[in-house]
Amino acid sequence: MSERTIKHPVIEDKQNHKLTTQVTETGCQMSNLYDLINAVNELAMGYASEETTSLLGRLHRPLPPGEEPVRLFSLRYDVDRCYSDNVLAMPVSCITVLSFTLLGHTRFVCVSDTHLQTHKMDPLPDGDVLIHAGDFTQEGLPQEVVKFNDWLGTLPYKHKIVIAGNHELSFDPVTIKSWECMQRYDESELKDMYLKLTNCTYLEDSETNVLGFRIYGSPWQPEFFDWSFNLPRGQPMLDVWNKIPEGIDILITHGPPLGHGDKTMSEQRAGCMELLNTIQKRVKPKYHIFGHIHEGYGVTSDGYTTYINASTCTLRYRPINKPVIFDLPNPS
Ligand SMILES: [Zn+2]
Repeated sequence: MSERTIKHPVIEDKQNHKLTTQVTETGCQMSNLYDLINAVNELAMGYASEETTSLLGRLHRPLPPGEEPVRLFSLRYDVDRCYSDNVLAMPVSCITVLSFTLLGHTRFVCVSDTHLQTHKMDPLPDGDVLIHAGDFTQEGLPQEVVKFNDWLGTLPYKHKIVIAGNHELSFDPVTIKSWECMQRYDESELKDMYLKLTNCTYLEDSETNVLGFRIYGSPWQPEFFDWSFNLPRGQPMLDVWNKIPEGIDILITHGPPLGHGDKTMSEQRAGCMELLNTIQKRVKPKYHIFGHIHEGYGVTSDGYTTYINASTCTLRYRPINKPVIFDLPNPS
């Protein structure tokens, strides 16, 4: 097999796919590129046919030492619905997909629980809207919030949406009073901490409209030691979820719902039952983004809502989980 590089800046087909590619080392025919477009699209829909599985299998070969696998797409789908735990992250040696765009769609890039480790993260992928589902600091100290905001300022997304998590102690009046690390600061220094987030839209039990999409964000989770935005399970949690309006496209919370991305190291499910009920019976968003349970990173679905635990950090606070990407057709 001869080694060569052919550049294909952009490939478009009649089904509105646009793929910017670079092909090196041709072990596959040009027609495979079109198959690849279909395969990527199929996988983006959370489904892999036998043909797709076989195509990606053909493209797979062991990587030489030191070579990084190319990620077509960082989504991870339900194992039951795909033939592999992570088909989309398979090494593809002969085709490098530089970017993949669905024309007429908005691309969302989701991260969470970055815990001030952003300097150790790989560069984030292209997209239109960045979503961060909370825990961007360790203790919510003012200098930590400023550092995170500076990082946001370096990112080229058109829109950036952020909520707080249980680590953002200075965002919750209860933990401002109860935590010792907060006592070092003047009351005035901790007031309205969200105003330091100048490089994003901060949501706290509130909604924003971005490019025609309705997005709602809330930081609460069922009691978790004495951290921020804690409430007892049951009615108090339901009371905050009852504020979520119907008809939203994307819901962002810090904690997971019961049964999706919520399994802890000890195999316990930490998710909120009231949140699951609210999502499935009343709100029915297309996507639900959250973090909090670092080890629950990944994507699941109930057939209508796609649940994304976007935790960037692992249980040991290593920021190695890839951002999760999805595309939504632009509202007409
Ligand atoms: Zn966290």
